[in-house]
Amino acid sequence: MNQTTKSDWQALLDYDQKHIWHPYAKMPADMPAIGVTKTQGSIITLADRREVVDGMSSWWAALHGYNHPKIQQAMHEQIDTMPHIMFGGFTHEPAVELAKRLIDLSPDGLDKVFFVDSGSVAMEVAIKMAMQYWISLGRPGKNKLLTVKNGYHGDTFATMAICDPVNGMHSLFSEILSQHYFAPAPEMGFDIESNNRDIKQLKALLSEHHNNIAAITIEPIVQGAGGMRFYRPDYLRQLRQLCDEFDVLLIADEIATGFGRTGKLFACEWADISPDILTLGKTLTGGHITLAATLAQNKISEALSQGEPGILAHGPTYMANPLACRAAIANIDVLMSSPWQDNIRRIETHFAESLLPLKGVAGIKDVRVLGAIGVIELEQSNLGAEVQAAALKNGVWLRPFGSLVYTMPAYNIPQTQLHTLTTGLVKAVLDTINTLE
Ligand SMILES: *Cc1c(COP(=O)(O)O)cnc(C)c1O
Repeated sequence: MNQTTKSDWQALLDYDQKHIWHPYAKMPADMPAIGVTKTQGSIITLADRREVVDGMSSWWAALHGYNHPKIQQAMHEQIDTMPHIMFGGFTHEPAVELAKRLIDLSPDGLDKVFFVDSGSVAMEVAIKMAMQYWISLGRPGKNKLLTVKNGYHGDTFATMAICDPVNGMHSLFSEILSQHYFAPAPEMGFDIESNNRDIKQLKALLSEHHNNIAAITIEPIVQGAGGMRFYRPDYLRQLRQLCDEFDVLLIADEIATGFGRTGKLFACEWADISPDILTLGKTLTGGHITLAATLAQNKISEALSQGEPGILAHGPTYMANPLACRAAIANIDVLMSSPWQDNIRRIETHFAESLLPLKGVAGIKDVRVLGAIGVIELEQSNLGAEVQAAALKNGVWLRPFGSLVYTMPAYNIPQTQLHTLTTGLVKAVLDTINTLE
């Protein structure tokens, strides 16, 4: 494709715009997508041959940058021997080796693994497990979920029902979706002293409705696509205690936070808790191929096997795809043998120095940094496209949504590129705000 000429590209982009849906987009799209031809490390090469620094890690995924040689090599070896085989009746080394690593590294007690192809489906499976758990124990009335506002758990129907009810992208379907309980979002701030009003309100809901509640679902410490909000570990600690007190399962969605992004390998570790069910996705293969997993404690599998029909009725066609499992094993091995904690600290320090000074600037509502995540929340929610375009001119790839301009680069991004990233981001934000005046 490197030989594609300018006029060929125009034809591709025209066709794309008319016929291919992009995420959360109109059809046909009002703006053409940007042609991209190549990735390497934290550099993305565009169709017009420009090279830009990646600020998004392809939505949290590319932990070690693109085309990591060890992950690529593992995938090459796997594709030459067995790219795929059905998981019904068969097993293979990539699935077993990956399961071992997940059980070994994840919070204590998570001992059973269910492989799926995407984050949303990992959450579907988590919800199905939780519902079936209570049916198996003879308490079918416990069939609702409790969650917090500003959450995001995916785009399928079961997960849409637990996304933020208002600013979630799915309020359109509110009549069709299952009705669940929503507590207020956790108070904003990772290191705040809180009066615990938020947890008291959640407790009030639990004490009234726990007989109807199967599980609480939550993104530990970082609420992602529902608002890029960080909250205190103590909230999570108290949430775990409340789940025990009221006999409700805890489903932790670490699809975005899993594998180091916040500074701990799993965000649950900030509160030193184990959920009953844990979901992983996005970050699992380091951005190389799609794979997700739902981990559960033994008590879940034991209850399901004792109840009727005794099985978990779920089995994606590409379940435990060996190619994806191999990529995930390599991704985890690269991570664990890298100085990832130092890298997260390096990025956090750099974000603190370069982004936090924007706090208080007119037009900027808030700036927050945690681990390798930097967020600038604007006063206005309609500037995303302009900021994206301005950043691109500064050699930086960003994908703002609503009022949120945010970045989570690869852990191993070179310091010079990290500098380009924040300089380009800050300039794009300030230029966009200033042209408004
Ligand atoms: C992205 C995301 C999902 C959904 O994952 P998909 O692979 O896009 O289906 C679920 N939960 C969280 C926290 C996410 O960030």
